[in-house]
Amino acid sequence: MRIFKSLQKSLFSRLTFLLFFALSAAQANAANLKMDFTVSMENPASGIYQVQLNCSGLETKQTDFKIPVWMPGYYQIMDYASDVMDLKVTDLTGKSVKWERANHNTWRVYNANSSALKISYGVKTSRSFVATNFLTSDHGFIAPPGTFLHVANKINTPATVRIIPYTGWDRVATGLTKMNNESFTFYAEDFDVLYDSPILIGKLEELPSFTVKGVPHYFIGYKLGDFDKAAFIADLKKVVEAAVKVIGDVPFKNYTFIGIGPGRGGIEHINSSAVSFSGSDALNTVDGRRSVLSFLGHEYFHHYNAKRIRPIELGPFDYDNGSKTNMLWVAEGVTTYYDEMLLRWAGLESSEDIFKNFSNTIQSYENSPGRYFQTVSQASYDTWSDGPFGRKEEEVNKTISYYEKGPILAMMLDFKIRHETKNAKTLDDVMRKLYFDYYKKLNRGYTEAEFKIVCEGIAGTKLDEFFSYVYTLTTPDYTKYFDYAGLAIDVSPKPMPGGWLGVKASMQNKILTVHDVEWMSPAWLEGVRRNAVISKINDKPATVDLLNSINKDYKDGDLVKLEILNSKGTVQVPVILGTKRDTSFEITRKPNLSPLQRTIQKSWLRE
Ligand SMILES: [Zn+2]
Repeated sequence: MRIFKSLQKSLFSRLTFLLFFALSAAQANAANLKMDFTVSMENPASGIYQVQLNCSGLETKQTDFKIPVWMPGYYQIMDYASDVMDLKVTDLTGKSVKWERANHNTWRVYNANSSALKISYGVKTSRSFVATNFLTSDHGFIAPPGTFLHVANKINTPATVRIIPYTGWDRVATGLTKMNNESFTFYAEDFDVLYDSPILIGKLEELPSFTVKGVPHYFIGYKLGDFDKAAFIADLKKVVEAAVKVIGDVPFKNYTFIGIGPGRGGIEHINSSAVSFSGSDALNTVDGRRSVLSFLGHEYFHHYNAKRIRPIELGPFDYDNGSKTNMLWVAEGVTTYYDEMLLRWAGLESSEDIFKNFSNTIQSYENSPGRYFQTVSQASYDTWSDGPFGRKEEEVNKTISYYEKGPILAMMLDFKIRHETKNAKTLDDVMRKLYFDYYKKLNRGYTEAEFKIVCEGIAGTKLDEFFSYVYTLTTPDYTKYFDYAGLAIDVSPKPMPGGWLGVKASMQNKILTVHDVEWMSPAWLEGVRRNAVISKINDKPATVDLLNSINKDYKDGDLVKLEILNSKGTVQVPVILGTKRDTSFEITRKPNLSPLQRTIQKSWLRE
């Protein structure tokens, strides 16, 4: 997620451009295709943007105008087409032109002999989120894939966007290039760039900008909140510098963090990110500040890993269907590894914080039953169907998160490479090779096979065992890989005191409602599931305190009687308690390190 820009032409669009010259004369018309948009918001309280598209250089007879079904970076079908309303098409004389909906996201215009058209439409908005359009009485956010129509198969066409802000709104934040002398008119060299450049409009606030390697970085947003802004920007600059140091190249002329207001989530873009941001709440505690900085570091690092170092499926994009890939464990997971390490390398977190955070991540992954069902590469591919954040019911127990297993594997891969090369090479070398060889030289993404080849080339050895953790359900050998860095990890399960039922519940409308049942716990084995309503525990009215007392006051082998209410009435569910076994996955430094272990540990933690 992010803001403003001016970009070099992306490689794949340049390639499209070359191919274009090899095409037939009929298609050569596209060279003259012009797409000029004006977006206005006369009545922001209505939540509707007015869009006017003036286009010329169209092939005659008929033209398909389309809107994407998703936003790259947010791997979900968004149904933007449903928000387009009141579409009207005329020729330059104002005469109405026939059109029809050819499919859900395609408007087929029968433009006969008219090579120029005026198309107007409204865009409905509903909620403030980094992947959706939003407009209220005091600010607006434009998610370009949900706003701008393109001509089918003409993604390579340049476009201009003129924003007419509501009266009194004085700022527009975007990564798009500003047109000379026109404050709110922007240029995109093609629709890939346009769709990758969100726009925030309103009375916005700007934090102090900073430069890294001579490139300005801006932070502009809506209601940024009350906090020590100079200190925050000083820390953010350190994080950005740490990220740039990994790759060594800055691929844009400017970068903008766009704060869209309170909320959750962020999406990376080509030279900006759109981030939910509410400074006052988050930034006034040490932990809050760290989590905001690692979140911003995450979105920032994505401009390398995901946008440029990218799985081959992620650009050019399939705007009609979405672009599925097995490699989100690298695009997202490796980025999550770096967002953690960047804070350490920027001096904003201690080594012990790093141990604790990875220990928590490993514990969370190991406690998710999905690890018996889904590999991290399947989790990447399937995220479109079950959603990275939208899993429901039993799916929760059959899926894993590449935001958890991805960074764990990234750390293990880093340790393995350091070990095999006597710390001469690291995961950073893999990232740099992918960036310079595939993005810069070949101007394309890497294939799954190429990723493995690059890793093995840097490590100087086959990495079949490591990749078995990617493609199979094999439990990673944490002990072995952590030892490379002189670290111990406690993987032995320990019995917990008290009796184990396995139910977490809270009072909702005065009834005890189950919100989680631990997989294969005694309650699970008796058929208790999420959303069940417990009316009685051992014949007494069910309360949270009574439920919690089971863990303390009972022991393995004791019987607990649950009375559960369902649509057919009440059911008695007797449960014999068990003993919970917990693994801490605590990460500690080993004593008596070999010289190589000591070198790896110090170099990894920058101590
Ligand atoms: Zn991400």
